[in-house]
Amino acid sequence: VPELPEVDHARRMLDTWLARTHIEKAQVFDARILDEGVKPASVVRALRDRHVEAIERRGKWLRIVLDEGRVFSHLGMTGKWVSGGVRDDALPFERIRLDVIAGRTRRSVRYVDQRLFGRFVLVRRDKPDIEAWTSLGPDPLVDGIDVDELHEKLSRRKLAIKPTLLDQTVLAGIGNILATEGLHAARIDPRRSARDLSRKEVSALARGLRRSIDTSLSLQEQEGPVITYVEEPGAENPFTIYGHEGTPCPRCRKPLAKMILAGRGTVFCAHCQR
Ligand SMILES: [Zn+2]
Repeated sequence: VPELPEVDHARRMLDTWLARTHIEKAQVFDARILDEGVKPASVVRALRDRHVEAIERRGKWLRIVLDEGRVFSHLGMTGKWVSGGVRDDALPFERIRLDVIAGRTRRSVRYVDQRLFGRFVLVRRDKPDIEAWTSLGPDPLVDGIDVDELHEKLSRRKLAIKPTLLDQTVLAGIGNILATEGLHAARIDPRRSARDLSRKEVSALARGLRRSIDTSLSLQEQEGPVITYVEEPGAENPFTIYGHEGTPCPRCRKPLAKMILAGRGTVFCAHCQR
């Protein structure tokens, strides 16, 4: 499942494949990727002959800025952007295809999504950005994490810290993996009420999240241009404690526990996370 690092990796790759190109041809193969009631033909028409100016990211959302309008892309659970040649066959689960040209270089950029929870939202020139984008909290990479601001925000939340971190208005882009890893790095028990964290603990949490993001980003870079998800068959688990329940805590060697917290599987160390 994509979180900030996976989506930022997609942004970097889209920046090399798609930014500063001209869209010669667009295709939408499955209308379910679009908002309800939006016709593929109208999206195809609006994308044709557009110039791609920039690829941006906030949280788990990508924004493809065109000379007229913008596209918001969310990878859902299994979405990936892939680049190929314009003569290449369709890929399994291909939903969107953008054939672009820059200079003499032609490229076919495809969006594949097996489970189809992703979204592809075209916004016309004079319309505002979608609410899912404008309602996002600070992005740890784009904006950085302001410890005082985060501490103040958390002090008004009585829910446990782990589900609070998954709220995209608190910080944008944190998912189950980053929250699990960040709380372990900061030695904070995921069940603690968010409002009970001291400023020092929030500072440690900010550092832990940032470190987890950087680690995941460099792992994605090593894997290659297309995102690898840890849930995929045969994928390695590169994380410190996520998915490692029952094995020794890398810090104190006591076995890692797993519980369900606010409906989400949560790995933690009951010994060194307080
Ligand atoms: Zn431990």
